[in-house]
Amino acid sequence: MNAELSVTSIMTHAERVNGGAEIVSLTQGNQRHRYTYRDAFSRARQLANALARFNLDEGARVGTLAWNDHRHFETYYAVACSGLVCHTINPRLFVEQLVYIINHAEDQLVLLDPDFLPLVEAIAHQCPGVKGWILLADASHMPRSETLDLLCYETLIAHQSREFNWPQVDESSACALCYTSGTTGNPKGVLYSHRSTILHAYASMMPDALGLARSDVVMPIVPMFHVNAWGLPYSCPIAGAKLVLPGSKAGDGETLAGLIDEEGVTQSAGVPTVWLALLAYLKVTGRTVESLRRVIIGGAACPVSVMEEFERYGVESRVGWGMTEMSPLGSVNTSEERRDHYSQEDFARVRLKAGRPIFGVEMKIVDDQGTELPWDGVAFGSLKVRGPWICSSYFKLDESDAHDEDGWFETGDVATIDPDGYMAITDRTKDVIKSGGEWISSIAVENVATDHPKVAEAAVIGHYHPRWSERPLLVVVRAPGGDDLDETEMLCWFEGRIAKWWTPDAVQFVESLPHGATGKIQKIVLREQFKNYAFPGA
Ligand code: AMP
Repeated sequence: MNAELSVTSIMTHAERVNGGAEIVSLTQGNQRHRYTYRDAFSRARQLANALARFNLDEGARVGTLAWNDHRHFETYYAVACSGLVCHTINPRLFVEQLVYIINHAEDQLVLLDPDFLPLVEAIAHQCPGVKGWILLADASHMPRSETLDLLCYETLIAHQSREFNWPQVDESSACALCYTSGTTGNPKGVLYSHRSTILHAYASMMPDALGLARSDVVMPIVPMFHVNAWGLPYSCPIAGAKLVLPGSKAGDGETLAGLIDEEGVTQSAGVPTVWLALLAYLKVTGRTVESLRRVIIGGAACPVSVMEEFERYGVESRVGWGMTEMSPLGSVNTSEERRDHYSQEDFARVRLKAGRPIFGVEMKIVDDQGTELPWDGVAFGSLKVRGPWICSSYFKLDESDAHDEDGWFETGDVATIDPDGYMAITDRTKDVIKSGGEWISSIAVENVATDHPKVAEAAVIGHYHPRWSERPLLVVVRAPGGDDLDETEMLCWFEGRIAKWWTPDAVQFVESLPHGATGKIQKIVLREQFKNYAFPGA
């Protein structure tokens, strides 16, 4: 039977089969909101009725600026299953980028957490297409706004029917949209279809992927605005796993430890940086996390110290690799479960790799001429991927296609693949820095640096940092007459010109920068040159 794959089917299945499983969500003031999938989907129908009154066009985008919580979860389903597209907006983007993506996506409504009201008040006048700003709050927690006519989520849905006739959606139609920061210019939108979302959810649940079961209690720390929290809001209801949503408290070790303990969390997922807060709290207090079996760590290379620390608490670290363009899961490292198969040395090596491709993701590495390289663990080349949950183009940017003629998507990562299928990221061809899971455009930083009258040339590279995975290191060639330019003057130059967290952590002055044949700065050579550098105090 040829059945259309749709997010609506997750809801129908979960409500029938796993309806009693819980969703626990931290709300304002640290209150724990507790209900079941059945309750959540019943409220999703109320929200769908409320959304229908706005008469949005089919496929219209509805934005969210929200933490991981139960209202955001309801919004995912009400929007997607109504035939609309849930555009999860990353609140950490700069104001100009936020304005750009809301307008580029043509968001017609935006649902936001009260925390983001100041942000929205600052940009709303530049987003004329938004017909309504809906606060994810109840009437008693509605903030006042001098400039905006805010709508209240709970008031909107309160008197709506709990019945809704979900439309039949085409499996190839979009259900979600997420923007990723590119190397230059504006962020690029990645649309997820109902079909790709379902296939990704199926694959991600496999034992050697995220390994999700009904007996699991899953706490996604990775935000629901970062590639749909790696698909967990879809895969958990399929499995019937209890969901624990930490709201705005994802960076607070004490809150996370409390949630793990009291809710019996068995699995959690997030970028390397978020685990440091939890591990530091456990170390200082001597508390343990008895129920936690596994953490999924992705989005950046995971330091071995984080894995070793989790090991002390009896927690498996499962490293995953993927991209916004890949929904995001591409490979998973389950070597810890097969530890007995390795010598100590081999295990130390293999655990650091980005993992083996999960079924559905084809991988290959190629040299500069496009010739495929062997899976020998030594040859390294451009990593390309192909599969049913990998994007086919960027939203409304057909000309910026990153696929070759055979449909392989260029990831911008450089990798080796060993005979056992373990892929290891060795470098990046895309010129970006990933700090604490968020992108920094090196070109934007370099443009500010080279505007300084005492700078002849500047390059910024991502360099290892124990807390943030990577931080920007600025390498500068002084201009003639600029001999007195020092680090303090250089770094002060960034104040007010660039977001504070994009400012480089340190400056190194050199006589010249390495250039390739086309005159481009060779970042690979530069990274090699500074490989033994350590940020002061890090
Ligand atoms: P994003 O689209 O924000 O999810 O970023 C995707 C990029 O993050 C990848 O192309 C890699 O450069 C990087 N990344 C993701 N996971 C890993 C990992 N396990 N190890 C190293 N880099 C990673």
